[in-house]
Amino acid sequence: MSFPTADDPRRIALLEAIEAREDELVDLARALVRIPTVNPPGEDYRACAELIGDRLARRGFEVTYVRGEGTPGDTDRHPRWNVIARKTFGAGPCVHFNGHIDVVLPGEGWTVDPFAGVVKDGRLYGRGSSDMKGGIAAAIIAAEALIDSGLGLPGAIEISGTVDEESGGYGGVAYLAERGWFSKPRVDHVIIPEPLEVDQVCIGHRGVWWAEIETRGRIAHGSMPFLGDCAVRHMGAVLERFERDLIPALAARHTTMPVVPEMARQSTVNFNSLHGGQAEPEGDQLPAPCVPDSCRLVIDRRFLAEESLESVRGEVVGLLDGLKAERPNFDYGLRELFSVAPVLTERERPVARDTARAVQEVLGREARFVCSPGTYDQKHIDRIGRLRDCIAYGPGLLALAHQPDEYVGIRDMVLSAQVMALAAWGLLTGD
Ligand SMILES: [Zn+2]
Repeated sequence: MSFPTADDPRRIALLEAIEAREDELVDLARALVRIPTVNPPGEDYRACAELIGDRLARRGFEVTYVRGEGTPGDTDRHPRWNVIARKTFGAGPCVHFNGHIDVVLPGEGWTVDPFAGVVKDGRLYGRGSSDMKGGIAAAIIAAEALIDSGLGLPGAIEISGTVDEESGGYGGVAYLAERGWFSKPRVDHVIIPEPLEVDQVCIGHRGVWWAEIETRGRIAHGSMPFLGDCAVRHMGAVLERFERDLIPALAARHTTMPVVPEMARQSTVNFNSLHGGQAEPEGDQLPAPCVPDSCRLVIDRRFLAEESLESVRGEVVGLLDGLKAERPNFDYGLRELFSVAPVLTERERPVARDTARAVQEVLGREARFVCSPGTYDQKHIDRIGRLRDCIAYGPGLLALAHQPDEYVGIRDMVLSAQVMALAAWGLLTGD
């Protein structure tokens, strides 16, 4: 392995060069934050893609813009523009840094302008500063410093800015992965600089299964409920069965996946929404007395690498079938909304190993391997691109994502750029 040793003067020079680019790194991250790429609806994607593309084109990258045509939300007003930049040094592996350029809406409660790029007390504030424009800027600075170091590296570096991660990634990484942009032989290693703290290497995430359960009844006058059949009462029985049987069973099911926060190191279910009977009356309108003939519950089930989608689905079906056998007139419908399989990259994979090693060498402390409680674009790289060599590593705090007064620490951006540069060096030249 040709991972550079601590006393290698080329390595010392590289880390110093990144240190010296702190102002440039902050300026780039601020410029990205100032483009309000809010999703939905997907504002200003082209402008943000071009900020990245124009900069890298000037540095000799070959830049391609790909529109996620026909994907959810793609219109002439809000086109889904992605940018991919590639710099090839010679034969050898390709290290790809992928970041999503979309951000969620700012929401209430900010004490600074969420799109001004305010810098104070060693932090850059703004929507997307942590999730994940600070990470994109750090990856770009890392790549540029590596190129300028004159190391004579083999292989290639790619940097992409992709859209719609916050709404499932269909117009972004999924669209590109379907067209071969995230598969071998084009790409060998992917690092996604999501905000997961500078000393953590994220190797995957739990699985997701969303489904809608509907209980059915029969409408009647509300003054004579015995003439109808109340779908809300049937749903009450479903909820009671979840509380009694499924929720305790899920809480007892633990994983070897190092999910953070630790509370998420088990199976979970969330009741996302519940609607029964007539729609909520508008204004001061009064409801009419009716027995509800339908009640719908949307569940968000997060599952573990140790569980299969079939078993996750099967235990909900079993619970509902059990009620059907016991409860008079109980009937239900089950509609699956979507699912994502759990993803877990082996810690021995070069991208996980070299990033962890770079953390150790830059920060002087051991990297922690973690998994995310929710999903991110790694799912598409894994499932569609069939590339296992993917991790998430970047500056910022996951707990700040989507919150008011989101910020990224400037020191963390610099340190993570050093880690990414060192990891890329190891991967490009390694065994
Ligand atoms: Zn993100």
